Amino acid sequence: MQDVVAVGGGLAGFRFAQGLREAGYDGRVTIVSDEKHLPYDRPPLSKQLLAGTYTEEQCALPGDAPDVTWVMGRRAERLDRERRVVVLDDGAEVAYDGLLIATGRRARTWNGPMPASGVHTLRDLEDTAAFRSAIDADAKVVIVGAGFIGCEVAATLRKEGVSVTVVDVAAYPMPVMGSEVGARAAAIHEAQGVRFRLGRGVAGFEGEERVTGVRLEDGELLEATVVLVAVGSVPNSEWFEDAGLSMDRSVVVCDATCTVIDASGQPVPEIVAAGDIAAWPHHHGDGAAVCIEHWSNARDMADLAAVNLLLPISDRSPMAATASVPTFWSDQYDVKIKSAGFLRAADSWTIVAEDPEKPSLLVEGHRNGELVGAIAFNMNRSIIGYQRQLAAPAPS
Ligand SMILES: Cc1cc2nc3c(=O)[nH]c(=O)nc-3n(C[C@H](O)[C@H](O)[C@H](O)COP(=O)(O)OP(=O)(O)OC[C@H]3O[C@@H](n4cnc5c(N)ncnc54)[C@H](O)[C@@H]3O)c2cc1C
Repeated sequence: MQDVVAVGGGLAGFRFAQGLREAGYDGRVTIVSDEKHLPYDRPPLSKQLLAGTYTEEQCALPGDAPDVTWVMGRRAERLDRERRVVVLDDGAEVAYDGLLIATGRRARTWNGPMPASGVHTLRDLEDTAAFRSAIDADAKVVIVGAGFIGCEVAATLRKEGVSVTVVDVAAYPMPVMGSEVGARAAAIHEAQGVRFRLGRGVAGFEGEERVTGVRLEDGELLEATVVLVAVGSVPNSEWFEDAGLSMDRSVVVCDATCTVIDASGQPVPEIVAAGDIAAWPHHHGDGAAVCIEHWSNARDMADLAAVNLLLPISDRSPMAATASVPTFWSDQYDVKIKSAGFLRAADSWTIVAEDPEKPSLLVEGHRNGELVGAIAFNMNRSIIGYQRQLAAPAPS
């Protein structure tokens, strides 16, 4: 193999290139990215960068930049598998004999009429700078979506005393973590001054030039000078959608070795995938391909994809048992949230330990009585034990 191309210059693309070099690959590596910045870390965007405690430089990814050819500010538009080329938005073609698909996701935008300015999303450095510069001490911020990013931004802004209201159709924040955790998270935010409108939908935005308010479906009008729409993300899959690969809800499907599967169910040896754009078979997902949109999953898939791409299919290893357990963290006020396992699979939740004063919390998620995940507030070390417990032989 002499020409490896990674499409997507985020965490997965960066780690993959580092992994190739660490594995001793000395051929050409090209990273194609539609961003104008070298790869950086996204978790600080809603936390330290927004708070101003990190500069953009401090959002650098860990480790040295790998020795690669960067093709920056260029979008991949098409994957021609027959000719083994990636076609870019300027018509240029990048040839590969090994390819990584790592184009991640973009923020889901509001699907309806919007004022000309004042409504933001948060996925990259430019989004963060634009949102930050819209907020002053008198800002009235409405966050649409009480998921992780919505809650992190609420916490960051409340620490500065900014007025924040969070709206969601869900009955409690971060609903993937269940009602027990959600109710406690809501109480922590409310104690810090966040106003919630939960179980309520947004009908639309008020204002023409600039946003002035958010109209809820039940008629309530929330005054707003700035709105953040944090309602999930959309896979950046358009460029390979007609390449004959196996797809599931617009992400590419791999086997447990990160090798991409084609539409007829056969592995494609020269194409691997990693990160938020890829699904792979997970033992807590009953072996079905699952897309895990977490930092550690992008890192682990990219590391494995780099090693495996250099090997014949028959020698490729599946995801290691511990790496196959998804982990996630979030920082909100002085609460460090950490989880392990496949939280979406849980059908019941049990509180194992709780100290509202600290605050600390440990909750287990079960499905049909079997442990599938655990969540901790300020009890991060206990999650390591769950990670080991949840590790199962990876599917082959
Ligand atoms: C604000 C924020 C906070 C987060 N906080 C946490 C956290 O606390 N904990 C956690 O576990 N996870 C967190 N995450 C999730 C984590 O950052 C992602 O799981 C991770 O970035 C996925 O990496 P990736 O390389 O797959 O995708 P991305 O980081 O999205 O990188 C994909 C890259 O591909 C580029 N691209 C897209 N389409 C094309 C194309 N057609 N051609 C060329 N380039 C293209 C994109 O512009 C981007 O640069 C957070 C995410 C965000 C946005």
